[in-house]
Amino acid sequence: MIDFGIENASQRKSYIGLIFNKGEKLYKNEVLDSLPIEWAELHKNGSIHIHDLDGYGLTYNCLTFNLLNKFPYHRFKEKKDTRKIIEIFEYLKEIIAKIGNEQSGGMSFANFDDDLSIIFKNLSITETENNLDLIKDCISSFILWCNNSHERAGQVSYYVSLNIGLSIQNIGKKICEFIIEEFEDAGNEVIKPNIIFKVKQGINRNQEDENYFLYEKACLCTAKKMIPTYLLCDSTPNKKYNPTEIAVMGCRTRVLQNNHGKETSIGRGNIDYITINLPRIAFEIEKQYFSSTTDEKIEKFIFKWKETATIVKNILLDRYNKLIELPINDFPTNLKYDLWIDNFSNTPNLREIFKNGTFSIGFIGLSEVIEILTDKKYYNIEELYQKAVYIVKSMRNYIDELRQLYNMNFTLLATSGELISGRFPSIDKNIFKHKILEKEYYTNSFHIDVDSNIPATEKIKKEGIFHELCNGGAITYVELKSSPIGNYEGLQELIEVGISNGTSYLGFNFPLDICENCGEKGVFDKCENCGSEKIKRIRRVSGYLEILDYFTQGKKAEVKNRKKNID
Ligand SMILES: [Zn+2]
Repeated sequence: MIDFGIENASQRKSYIGLIFNKGEKLYKNEVLDSLPIEWAELHKNGSIHIHDLDGYGLTYNCLTFNLLNKFPYHRFKEKKDTRKIIEIFEYLKEIIAKIGNEQSGGMSFANFDDDLSIIFKNLSITETENNLDLIKDCISSFILWCNNSHERAGQVSYYVSLNIGLSIQNIGKKICEFIIEEFEDAGNEVIKPNIIFKVKQGINRNQEDENYFLYEKACLCTAKKMIPTYLLCDSTPNKKYNPTEIAVMGCRTRVLQNNHGKETSIGRGNIDYITINLPRIAFEIEKQYFSSTTDEKIEKFIFKWKETATIVKNILLDRYNKLIELPINDFPTNLKYDLWIDNFSNTPNLREIFKNGTFSIGFIGLSEVIEILTDKKYYNIEELYQKAVYIVKSMRNYIDELRQLYNMNFTLLATSGELISGRFPSIDKNIFKHKILEKEYYTNSFHIDVDSNIPATEKIKKEGIFHELCNGGAITYVELKSSPIGNYEGLQELIEVGISNGTSYLGFNFPLDICENCGEKGVFDKCENCGSEKIKRIRRVSGYLEILDYFTQGKKAEVKNRKKNID
């Protein structure tokens, strides 16, 4: 098989994949050629990255399904309970597979457990032992399907996220329990879908809460498999919203504020996003103003970032304007299933739908910016930490100005930089000389360096404030030495630290190696049980778990440098 390069960790090789990939490359070049030279040049020279360039003017990025909006009850009504249950899950796979080929990014269910409980209730599916057994089996198959289907474009799995944990219906609780159990039982090699457990006071957060047992189960599962991740509904960025209205994509996209209607994640998504290479700007400022004070350099940095962000805004708008000019019939699946906030099928034009989405300006390498401008790390010097916060606040303020000025949902995104974390420094290496460029990756968004070794609580506290500022999405990861099996209290303590420090979305990472010969799990280069050196390594890239062999070069370099956050 011809090697066409791996750009994305969930990519596999196939004939269709090869043809898709070649076409994708051609089309990306076609898009770049059609853009104003100044814009194309910024992308090519690594100052910015226009994500999903192949979808430019053709589609949007991601969507959290408004599943209940037009659920086709008539399809199931006349059937026996067993057929209803089986076909509901078939229906879910159907929309995932079809939407997955109609948009460029992920799909999310905001309340997978509760929505299904409502659907079951409306179809009079009762809680008999048989029905519950069947639901459990269907969930098991659904999880395996999400994990094993690499059918999207002949090479990648669908990016599916299930937000769960808040249902107080009996059957909803069961569904939540089955999801966690079946995911846990499916073994370590099953790493999809992404599951997000919503933690909420009065529902599941404390021992006296009725869904606390589900929270406990979720943490026990995370301690084995790094999934679920946690959406902290009581923390500052989230507590003003009804928790059922909030959801995240596994890759951390957050869609909530809305200039055009209801503030909800449901039935909305990100339309397009572009990431700005912050270290590039810092290198240029440092070169030009090397004798200035740190504060002066930071002001110059922000000024230069605004110049770039202004162009980025123009590109986002251009892409949006091309998108909304398309005929509605270009989105047959969306037309058929009506999963958006407003009815897609009745909309006079695409603008009325897609204006509800977000337009995100992302960033990578805040840590490197401070290091380039001051030669020190921001995480262990309070004064520099405050400067890092100041930079992000300034970026957010400017994006809020754009939001008002254009009456569009511009947001600041803490980008998950799977591809760009390696792409940006590989280009910058040819222009600048700096020790930072030797490690071959830039640190994600505002994250503290992966080799910082700082305690987990400290990392969560320091990163917390950035979650409120990055209204387009953010995640904090805690890097554990090994799987904390059984220690759910330890994870809950860290989640509490997150809640009181403004963390919106929290995940736990630890290295997970599996012997391909005997199945032994742990952290090793050679199996400690049978001595085999055929080891499958599972790591989290940028929100989703993946197998290390399929990582991009930059991410492989970052994984090598990861150090645990011990407490
Ligand atoms: Zn072994």
